[in-house]
Amino acid sequence: MDFDNFKGVHFAEEINGGDCVLCDSCNADGDEVDSEGNPVYMGGGSVSDGTAYCQACFDRSVKEYGAKVLEIYDPAKSFGDNVRSARLRDTGTSDCVIRIYTFD
Ligand SMILES: [Zn+2]
Repeated sequence: MDFDNFKGVHFAEEINGGDCVLCDSCNADGDEVDSEGNPVYMGGGSVSDGTAYCQACFDRSVKEYGAKVLEIYDPAKSFGDNVRSARLRDTGTSDCVIRIYTFD
């Protein structure tokens, strides 16, 4: 969300967390691999609040809590690659960029 044009809201700082991907629910590492180098977390998805969940948390949030599905990620790609692709599409960078604002 872009807050730059809201009255009383002031941009304070931008933090670039790099290209790491963690599940917004359980903090699973989206790039974790098993002993053979295969991704542990595939697929995943996003719900209406704009978060990125690993497949298990995504399924649980939709089935058990009725979260609205915003996007279902490609099950053939790792969770990390899916989130970086979504970030690049939505923001122009695959990095995790956090913008901090202050309010009057
Ligand atoms: Zn998770």
